[in-house]
Amino acid sequence: MSDPSAFAAALAAALDSITDPSSSQGLAASGRGRARRVDAVVDAVIEVGGLDSAQRESIEQQVHAALSAIPGVEQVRVLLTAERAQGPKLIAVASGKGGVGKSTVAANLAIALARRGVKVGLVDADIYGPSQPRLLDAQIQPEAHDKKLVPVPTKMGVPLLSLGQLVKPGQAVAWRGPMAGNALNQLVDAHWDGAEALIVDMPPGTGDVQLSMIQKHKPAGAVIVSTPQDLALIDAERAIDLFNKAGVPMIGLIENMAGYQCPKCGEISDPFGQGGAEAEARRLGLPFLGRIPLAIEIRRASDAGTPDPTPFEGVADAVAAWLNR
Ligand code: ADP
Repeated sequence: MSDPSAFAAALAAALDSITDPSSSQGLAASGRGRARRVDAVVDAVIEVGGLDSAQRESIEQQVHAALSAIPGVEQVRVLLTAERAQGPKLIAVASGKGGVGKSTVAANLAIALARRGVKVGLVDADIYGPSQPRLLDAQIQPEAHDKKLVPVPTKMGVPLLSLGQLVKPGQAVAWRGPMAGNALNQLVDAHWDGAEALIVDMPPGTGDVQLSMIQKHKPAGAVIVSTPQDLALIDAERAIDLFNKAGVPMIGLIENMAGYQCPKCGEISDPFGQGGAEAEARRLGLPFLGRIPLAIEIRRASDAGTPDPTPFEGVADAVAAWLNR
């Protein structure tokens, strides 16, 4: 099965074909089971708290059989855990400065993870230029229930909350200090019920807003987006420093706008040379998650509000593997 969305749906359907003994819903619907794939391997995590050993064993066997029956699946690994997953894991997507494609990477990463079966939401915390509502074609004001915001569903399968949905389009966002902090808190402390991971499109740079957000919400990991030039200018290094100081683990570095992809023949040329970012990541002790070319199609798809995550599949695999580790 090559269509990623169909694959994610097949995973959920397979889990829902098995009944949760405690709620008589399917395992995915009841929130007990999650499954995701990396290549032809499917990892399932089933929360079995409150079930007796016979029920656990039976569930493990049924999950294994149901997931193995999906076309294209070569290996299934089932992990039983006693504890219910607590709130979503935050993955901060950050950069040393604006304009390096951080928001584009964050959106496409979230979409690609959703297509792998990860229950993922997107938080657009970029106070200086909240672009996600346009990128995901979701310029809708979120509703609130019980004083908490309700994420806005999008066509790309990734629910979104953005500062851009809270202000009028085009209105300059010049929030500072506590006001920005309060608004950002509302985006994270929202009804993200059932989400395993939140991709957080961070404000660019390394100032107080970024630091207080990191300290308050303790991301589980951080991804740094950089262009080859930005790396040379040590902007990325400052961003890495900020997370290191706050004790946030580094997932790795993504090099964006690396090389130029010819719109006619698709060939990628490297006017600035190649391999610098990977070497730089090694020097900084960071995993290198991959390079995304400068391609007109990426900008077009973003502007049209219909991102196509194909060029981002490799980095999404790396982040999915990090989540599964
Ligand atoms: P940031 O969030 O770092 O400020 P954006 O994601 O808003 O940057 O990207 C800035 C501009 O560059 C946007 O117009 C976007 O469509 C474009 N862009 C980002 N990455 C690429 C890429 N790999 N190829 C072509 N255009 C890109």
